[in-house]
Amino acid sequence: MTAFDQDLSARLAAIRAEGLHRELRRVDSAQGPRIEIAGRALLNFSSNDYLGLANHPALKAAAIRAVEKFGAGAGASRLICGSLSPHHELEETLAAFKGTEAALSFSTGYAAALGTIKALLGKDDVIIVDKLVHASIVDAAKLCGARIRIFAHNDLNDLEEILKWAAGNIQHPTRVLVVTESVFSMDGDFAPLREIVALKEKYGAWLMVDEAHATGLYGANRRGLGEELGVSDRIEIQMGTLGKAIGASGGYICGSQALIDFLVNRARSFIFSTAPVPAAVAAATAGIQLVQSSEGKQLTKQLWSRIAEFRSALRTPHSALVSAILPLIIGDETKAVTAATNLRERGIFVPAIRYPTVARGTARLRVTLTAAHSAEDVAELLTSLRTLDFGL
Ligand SMILES: *Cc1c(COP(=O)(O)O)cnc(C)c1O
Repeated sequence: MTAFDQDLSARLAAIRAEGLHRELRRVDSAQGPRIEIAGRALLNFSSNDYLGLANHPALKAAAIRAVEKFGAGAGASRLICGSLSPHHELEETLAAFKGTEAALSFSTGYAAALGTIKALLGKDDVIIVDKLVHASIVDAAKLCGARIRIFAHNDLNDLEEILKWAAGNIQHPTRVLVVTESVFSMDGDFAPLREIVALKEKYGAWLMVDEAHATGLYGANRRGLGEELGVSDRIEIQMGTLGKAIGASGGYICGSQALIDFLVNRARSFIFSTAPVPAAVAAATAGIQLVQSSEGKQLTKQLWSRIAEFRSALRTPHSALVSAILPLIIGDETKAVTAATNLRERGIFVPAIRYPTVARGTARLRVTLTAAHSAEDVAELLTSLRTLDFGL
């Protein structure tokens, strides 16, 4: 073994010893409520394809049409010669969907976070993030060089203390950006967006909201939690992914024309990266159109029904807002992996989520429901969960 591989093997052994080793599982089918792994069909409660669009005929047809007309590859970055009409159609569709002046698409949500935050902030600025924000935002905050302040999860008092500090103790002009998710990816809870908007306005800060797990699901037009809570037009930077409820892949930023023009000039993950392939953007456009249609509305209704069935069995407290992310906290990493293995043996696929995705000692099974599940699927999940010791 080379010294290089020896070094890596020792580090992998340490990861294994902590119960944190991960490996890829090969899926031999399309995404859906049932996936095939190692020759077995498993009932799938792991994906973020909340509306079941990833394998929807309308998205597939749009992707095929785009390949036939525009080819398989994009050829170059958008600013060189890769800005194909499917990209422009996607951005027009996105801006109309979100009700913003303009939109910019990225190859992933991760790239959108990295490019945007790095473009907007530098070392004299301050970025204030919720303790549980996604890795893409954490990485972007580090990359941009701004002073990073973390507020306790959804803690408005803590956020206000930091905003006060930033407004009072820092030489101006300084930019202060607050970043939060709207629906948190591993806990499925909601940011108090109305109160956060009021606070950032009180202290003259800007707000970026990552709607990765809310786009396509909340609000009268399914724009996201910002719409549901009536504050989307007061959020400077609306971010999201096209790879979850929208059913395709890619990331987006929606906001003012000035923001989008600035990002075209300064977002490095946009400038220095080949444009997304036509199939991906065309599928995303079709996904957004579907979300806005009566079928989209019907699909969200189905999703809420599945969630209600699951939650009633859990005896969780009644609340008006619910999400499709249902974490069953186990704590110990190895126990969580064992629970997931036991479920897999019963034909149920639910991932064990561990550090570094969540804090150490808070490992969990992360159940996600989709509109493509049936009531019987949820009943089967509950039956299997009852065989584990969750007090169900
Ligand atoms: C998935 C996710 C992203 C990244 O989006 P991709 O398109 O998958 O790169 C960003 N933020 C949150 C909260 C996410 O869950």
